[in-house]
Amino acid sequence: MAPELSLEFIQKLPKTDLHCHLDGSLRLETILDLARHQGVTLPTTDRTGLFELLYAGDVCSSLDDYLKAFDITLSVMQTEEALERIAFELAEDAWRENVRYIEVRYAPMLHTRNGLRLTQVVEAVLRGLRTAKRELGIRYGLILCGIRSMSAESSIRMAELCIAFKNRGVVGFDLAGSEVNNPAKLHRQAFQLVIDNNINCTAHAGEAFGPDSIAQAIHKCGAHRIGHGTRLVENGDLLNYVNDHRIPLEVCPSSNLQTKAANGWEGHPVDFFVDYGLRVTINTDNRLMTDTTVSKEIWLCHRNYGWSLDQIKDIIIAGFKSAFMPYREKADLLAEISAELATVVAPANGKPQVAPALVSKVEAPVAPVAEPAPSTDAARH
Ligand SMILES: [Zn+2]
Repeated sequence: MAPELSLEFIQKLPKTDLHCHLDGSLRLETILDLARHQGVTLPTTDRTGLFELLYAGDVCSSLDDYLKAFDITLSVMQTEEALERIAFELAEDAWRENVRYIEVRYAPMLHTRNGLRLTQVVEAVLRGLRTAKRELGIRYGLILCGIRSMSAESSIRMAELCIAFKNRGVVGFDLAGSEVNNPAKLHRQAFQLVIDNNINCTAHAGEAFGPDSIAQAIHKCGAHRIGHGTRLVENGDLLNYVNDHRIPLEVCPSSNLQTKAANGWEGHPVDFFVDYGLRVTINTDNRLMTDTTVSKEIWLCHRNYGWSLDQIKDIIIAGFKSAFMPYREKADLLAEISAELATVVAPANGKPQVAPALVSKVEAPVAPVAEPAPSTDAARH
């Protein structure tokens, strides 16, 4: 029986978060503050009430219901100042749990309601992330999303933005939104444009729809990674293809339970995926709607599946390997992270410990970690 690891222990490990939506990862206080300053009317200004509207619960009725909470967050994300602040705060929250590299994603066309130009929407978020890198040292990449339920043309606009901002902070293209009745192949032209320009791409697939959706994302759209991929388990042949080609899965366990992509922890295939040797990365999806952090997601897997410290280290390494980062830069970072993880020792006598070398190395980033979103716990009960 592997020794039990605490959430605090996992918070101290270096990590990545490769699947994290900007409009799903705001601080509750920030929404209230921005609404006050912008004169935006929220459904409620009561903290607890607002959290209840945004938090998707242990299970929500469907993915489409889950997506409704975004109407609220998007209402305060229509100015450059708000976007810059939200991006910085997200990177800061990730840094507090020792995330060393974060890929933030969002759909710029959802932020033009009050007249912002698409380039302003991208630049504002990059400013926030750049400041976080300068002040805190966290590395980042920005992924721009097309939305399945929107037109193919809108995805092409997002692809063009990816090209314009390539090597300027944008590292990839994604297709997000409701899978049912909105096949990825309708957005094939956007993917082609991105690939023709040698830009990375990923796609949400196999979350609300079966393995065909994953096959389409890989074979028709050229996705280099798969967002979720939960239902890959239903097609052994495709599963082997994904494994053989080391196509990373951006798994977001708690989010999948909320949207019913999986039925409870025992019904979630992530433990099987890890056991089978797939390249699994663990991510948050929406830190606010799911009330989570990447440390919490790993910890929940540890609790539910008994993942050992060595398995957790492998998953952390898989996260860094799967980053949309230039190869040489990634190799340097991997060497650094591997050396650091090698100093982490398993807890003795039920008391988690980190080797002194690691403590001194990560002291700065983890110092403020003991503040787990004060808002959310208080609000939930
Ligand atoms: Zn997502």
